[in-house]
Amino acid sequence: MVICGTILSMDNFFSTQENTEDNSLNSQYDNLKDNYEKIFIEAAESIRKEVNAFKPEDPCKKCNIKDCKVEKKDMFASYPPACPYRDWQLKILTFLAGDYRQKLKSAYKNMMEKKNNYSCNRCAACCKLATSQFSYEQLKQRAMRGDKFAKDFVSVFVPYKNEEEAKKANPEYFELLNKLVEDEKIYYYYCPKLSGNLCSDYENRPDICKDFPHNPLKLLPSECSYNAWKNEIAHEAMLLKAKVDIIDYYGSKLK
Ligand code: SF4
Ligand code: SF4
Repeated sequence: MVICGTILSMDNFFSTQENTEDNSLNSQYDNLKDNYEKIFIEAAESIRKEVNAFKPEDPCKKCNIKDCKVEKKDMFASYPPACPYRDWQLKILTFLAGDYRQKLKSAYKNMMEKKNNYSCNRCAACCKLATSQFSYEQLKQRAMRGDKFAKDFVSVFVPYKNEEEAKKANPEYFELLNKLVEDEKIYYYYCPKLSGNLCSDYENRPDICKDFPHNPLKLLPSECSYNAWKNEIAHEAMLLKAKVDIIDYYGSKLK
């Protein structure tokens, strides 16, 4: 059901190809690697275009500041305090943290709403093998500190005794999850409320079950019918994620 923490990173996103015929998890992973760089560049160019739209037009012609040594007038240059480009940098900061971030949030919401066009096929793969970067004890501590996600998680999931048991639940999914996290520790869980392929406590299931999958970057088991939604929004989701990462980086560099 839940893939949280480290593997909710961009590294887990899959193919940006639509209607991909080979929808196996390995194929998704390979496509991700092929497409990531291109999408990141696309995101950076799109942001640059937005911020250049309000860049001052050659203020140096009328500038009285002596000894200005700035050669390349880009958004990261170190401008003197009175320089109009410095104002531009401040405007960029405000824009990225305000209107632009809001625009990305609204795009994210629209993208998540598209999930409603698909439905669960009740394969129960998400109930049989859930993962977290956190141990059961750590999740319980996080739940006690008020983390809603962790609270929901420990209300239904329990840890597998060992990796062998987890692997038996879904060998293909298990292998790929391991490939993705590489050196990081990953913990495997299952829900004992599952009876056959049905939830024995369906009416009381927590939000993490109702909302699954919660993130368009989540790697899903190949059985999951929401892979069709992921294929539909793959490029858009990756682009959005890249934009969020870029504006966070720009924000920290411009401060
Ligand atoms: S509570 Fe039900 S829906 Fe949620 S993980 Fe358990 S069996 Fe699945
Ligand atoms: S289709 Fe997806 S959400 Fe539904 S039970 Fe299967 S893995 Fe879970």
